Amino acid sequence: MSEWVFIELPSNTIADLSAPELPYPIRREKMALYDELKQEGLPLLLIAEELDRYLEEQPGRVERYRREAAHLFFCAGVECVMDKCAEESVHYFKLAVWLDPAQLPARVNLGMSLHLLSCGEEAIAQYREVMRRGTVWDWWQAWMLCAEELMAMGRPEEAMPLLIEVKATVPDSHRFWELLSECEQKLNPACPHCGARLKAKTRFCGECGGKLG
Ligand SMILES: [Zn+2]
Repeated sequence: MSEWVFIELPSNTIADLSAPELPYPIRREKMALYDELKQEGLPLLLIAEELDRYLEEQPGRVERYRREAAHLFFCAGVECVMDKCAEESVHYFKLAVWLDPAQLPARVNLGMSLHLLSCGEEAIAQYREVMRRGTVWDWWQAWMLCAEELMAMGRPEEAMPLLIEVKATVPDSHRFWELLSECEQKLNPACPHCGARLKAKTRFCGECGGKLG
């Protein structure tokens, strides 16, 4: 068991966490480091790391910290992404999702970090969970990212229904429209001679008679 001391976080130091209501645990031996890092701004990753360890040692405290910790771990994950530490960000986003399964921003970000680690299937599972809990109007990015992942895996026929759902929201995203045309192209390639869409695999274009492939 570690020896813990509790610090009060200054208010407005973590985005969208108006005023931390709880004291945050830091191991006594880490206090010197905390005080040193504090000079440069809030040492969010140290606080998150310590809280993670604390909740592991004291599972009885999880309920007390649940709401604030979910947000703090989410912010820590974002900071890891900015530091280009995808693996660490996955750890924090997973913690955030574990504490608050309805926290959809953490899930979308978890999916993106899993993508960076080439864990495509896991990323898709997270996007699908967002799609199950949210609407396409609010969370079309999850639909789009899921479709993108599916296309990268060579599954455009699974990506297309998702893209059609997103299309109905007329998203203001250049990337989306590119992805849609790429997917259409994959499913129905165009004739290189006349540009007509080719329905099935044939040796000649039905429109211009040009030889294909
Ligand atoms: Zn043709």
